[in-house]
Amino acid sequence: MGVTFPTVAKAVGTLIDARLLEEFDDVVSGPGRPAKRLRLSKERAQIVGLTVDVKACEIAAAGFDGVLRENSRQSFATPDTYEKLLDTISERVKALNGGEMSILSIGISVVGLVDYRQQEIRLAASLPFLNGKQLGRDVSRRTGADCVLVHDAHALCLAEYVYGEASELDSFVVLDMCTGIGMGVMVNNVFLTGHSGYAGEMGHIPVVANGSLCRCGRRGCLETVASEWALVDRVSKGLGRQIEFDEVMTLALDGDKLVRAELNRVCKYLAMALAHVVNLFDPQCVFVNGRLFDELPWLRDHLVNKARQLALEPAFADCRFLPTSGTHLLGAVATGISAVTASRIHELQDTLSGITFSVTRRSVS
Ligand SMILES: [Zn+2]
Repeated sequence: MGVTFPTVAKAVGTLIDARLLEEFDDVVSGPGRPAKRLRLSKERAQIVGLTVDVKACEIAAAGFDGVLRENSRQSFATPDTYEKLLDTISERVKALNGGEMSILSIGISVVGLVDYRQQEIRLAASLPFLNGKQLGRDVSRRTGADCVLVHDAHALCLAEYVYGEASELDSFVVLDMCTGIGMGVMVNNVFLTGHSGYAGEMGHIPVVANGSLCRCGRRGCLETVASEWALVDRVSKGLGRQIEFDEVMTLALDGDKLVRAELNRVCKYLAMALAHVVNLFDPQCVFVNGRLFDELPWLRDHLVNKARQLALEPAFADCRFLPTSGTHLLGAVATGISAVTASRIHELQDTLSGITFSVTRRSVS
C-alpha cells in the first residue's frame, strides 16, 4: 500500500476507538507471532434498521458489516398516534442497546415523501400523523443514537443494490407496489434522490385527465388506477360490498371475470408507467415488488408483454424484469451504514492519514 506501519497503526487505532473496526482471534497459524486480525465491528457496535409502514413496523440490529442479526428481528403493529409510535420505537431501540454494544446509527424507512435535507417527512398520505414530523431527530432525542430517514421505495432500491440481485448492475429501477407505487432509480451507479429527496414518485404521475381523487390530493394519479388500494376499491364497488386484498387474490385465482377485467385495467396503466421508466432511464433491469405479482406470477409476464408494445424497442430489448430480492428492512440497515461512513469517517479523516474508507457493494471496506 506504500504506507508505513505507524501510519496504518494510527488509522486502525482511530477506527477501533470509534468502534467501526474490532480485533478478533486469529485462527490462521504460521511462523512467528500471530498477527491481530481486524474486521468490521459486529460485536462492539451495531446498526439498527427500522421500517414504519401503514399496518406494521419492523426493527432489527445488524453489525457494521451489514449482516442482519436474525434473532433481533421484531415486528409490531403501527401505533395510531405519533407519540405512541415514538414510545414504542424508543423502547425497542433501548432493548437492543444492551451491554457493550453501542448503536452507530439507526436507519428508518418510512412511507411518504422525505425531505432529506431537513430530515422531515413531508407527505405521508397513508399515515397522516407523520406529516411534518422529524421522526429521525425525535427518535435520536429519546435514544441518544444518530438516526437517518429514508423513503421506503428508496430503501428497497438500496437493499437491491447492496444485498440483492442488482449488485452487478449500474443502472436499474425498483418499482415498489406495497402501499402505493414508489420507485427507486440507480443510473450509472448514482442513486437519484432529486433536490430534496422526492425523486421517483411514480405513483403520482397524472395518467387520467380529471380522474379519481388520489390520496395525495390530486386527481388521476397512476395510483388511482394501478395500485393495490385502487384495485381493491374497484372490485369492492363492482361486487357491491367492501372486500380485502386477500379476497381479491382468491377471486383472481378462481378466474373471477370481474377481477380479471380489473387486473387487465391495472396492467394497462402499469404498462404505460413501465414504458415511461424504460424510455426515461434505460435500465438494465426493472425489479418489481408487490403482493400482486408474488401471488399472480403470470400477471408479471402479462404486464411485460403490454409494456413491450409501448416502450422504445432498443431500450426495452436490453431490459430484464425480475421480482425484488431485498427488503425495506435491509434498505434501512444499508441507509444506516451509509450515514456512518458519510459522517463519522469524515470526522475521523484527519487521523486516517489519507487512507480512504468507503462503502462498496455487499460490504464496507
Ligand atoms: Zn396522487
